[in-house]
Parts: sequence; C-alpha cells; structure tokens
Amino acid sequence: MAGVNRSPGSESESGDGPDDAGVAVDRVGKTYDDGGSPVRALDDVSFDVEPGEFVCVVGPSGCGKTTLFRIIAGLTDATDGEIRLAGAPVTGPTTDMGVVFQEYHLFPWLTVAENVGFGLERSDRSEAERERRVEEMLDLVGLTEFRDSYPKSLSGGMKQRVAIARSLAVDPELLLMDEPFGAVDAQTREMLQRELLDVWASTGKTVLFVTHDVAEAVTLADRIVVMAADPGRVAEIVDVDVSRPRERGDPAFGEHVARVRELIGAMP
Ligand code: ADP
Ligand code: MG
Repeated sequence: MAGVNRSPGSESESGDGPDDAGVAVDRVGKTYDDGGSPVRALDDVSFDVEPGEFVCVVGPSGCGKTTLFRIIAGLTDATDGEIRLAGAPVTGPTTDMGVVFQEYHLFPWLTVAENVGFGLERSDRSEAERERRVEEMLDLVGLTEFRDSYPKSLSGGMKQRVAIARSLAVDPELLLMDEPFGAVDAQTREMLQRELLDVWASTGKTVLFVTHDVAEAVTLADRIVVMAADPGRVAEIVDVDVSRPRERGDPAFGEHVARVRELIGAMP
C-alpha cells in the first residue's frame, strides 16, 4: 500500500490530518473499578489508523487488547480520552464499523444468507438491493453454495467467513476484529488470513485487527501497534516493511517477527 504515512503526535489535531477518514485512538485510558482493587487496563493509548490501512494490535494476554477493541467499537466507555472515526467521536455502536469477535456470534436459527443480511434489515435499502448485497458478500467469502445452510453444519473457518461477510454487508468504513481466527486450526487460519487480505485489497476497507499471534500480525499488517501490560499501553509501533504477498520463509518476515517478539518479551 502506497501513501501510508505515520504522523506521530498528530492524533489530537483536527483539520486534514489522519482523522478525516481513519481512526484516531486519542489518549485512551480505562480503569475497571467494580469493587475490589481497581485494574488499570489501559493507560494513555494513542495511535492513528489511516484510511485503507491494515493495522494490527499485538500484545500478551491481559494487556488490554479486548478492552481497547470494545472501546473502539463503542461497546465499553473509556475512562479517559476518546476514539474518533472519520473525525467524529465514537459514543456507541455504529454501523460505520463492522465488528468481528473471536466467538462467531451467528444466529443459529438463521441460514447463512439470513445471517449475512441481518444488519441490512434496518437499512433503508430495498429488498432487491439487500438480496443483491447478500449475494455479493457470499461470493466475496466463497460461501454462495452454502447460502441456505445453518451455522451448525459449518466448520469454524466457514462460520468466521459468515461473520466477516455479515460485518461487511452494511459497507462499514472500518472492519474491527478481535482475535477472529483464534478458534480455528493453524491451516484454516492461514487460509482465512489470505482471504482477509484479498477482501481488504478488493474493498479498500480500513482494518484494525487484534491478535496475540505475532506471525499473524506480520502476515497481515502495514503497521503493528505493540502493547505492554500492567498497565496496558503502547510499547512501540512497528512498520512492516515486507513486500506482499508475504512468505514466512522470507528473511525480512523473520526479522519482523523476531523484533516484535523481542519487544513483547522485553517488557517488565
Ligand atoms: P487482552 O484482551 O489483551 O487479553 P483484556 O482487555 O481482556 O486483555 O483485559 C485487560 C485487563 O483488564 C486484565 O487485567 C483483565 O483482567 C481486566 N479486565 C478485563 N475486563 C474486565 C472487567 N469487565 N472487569 C474487571 N477487569 C477486567
Ligand atoms: Mg482479548
């Protein structure tokens, strides 16, 4: 991807900065305080995601990745700071974001096509438009022939394809994913990674992808936000200068994995 610029320190500026169509995570903090001793899950987390960019957030278990994901999605309030999508503060869930969770969250009583079309029910598109959109999305993730199947008959990888198709159906600006391939086997995972990159390339969506798997992040991302724990914070932002399509055997790939692992391992 050409034209992806880092602009350190610009997250609090308005105007024609990175806020215009991307995501700004601006000095976000989160303290869980529900009796017992308070947990500082996130502290002063700031970074930008440029429009069309693929950014991964990586860090050890407990460093606040899911908390950050939920705050960006508008599902949890931040204690400090704010999230902006296309320059506008996020105050709750919005169809401008397609959200994919680790668990598939499919409706078991709906077919694959009905699951994909679920978010379109409330849109002002005509029925014919909605149907066309569902078929497009099924085609995009290669599930056309399973359109009338129910989730229980699908493999984990297929279920997650349905979840991705559903999240893209409403044509969101941002695809936000939390360890979406965590529950599938290694081979399926690599296939889903390739498919997601194809979807990203063909739709031009902005993607923010949370994972604890360093190799996955190096496979996918333009940039990697490496987090540290206690309190959850940004340790470093790493540019992934490895040409696409990326091969795990490429020395540059290995160097990036080693670098990110070192950053994570070196943390107190
Ligand atoms: P990750 O996704 O990186 O594993 P989480 O965001 O799930 O991290 O958790 C970050 C920290 O916040 C952990 O210490 C976790 O125990 C704590 N935490 C997460 N959710 C809650 C909650 N609802 N109430 C209290 N503490 C929480
Ligand atoms: Mg998590």
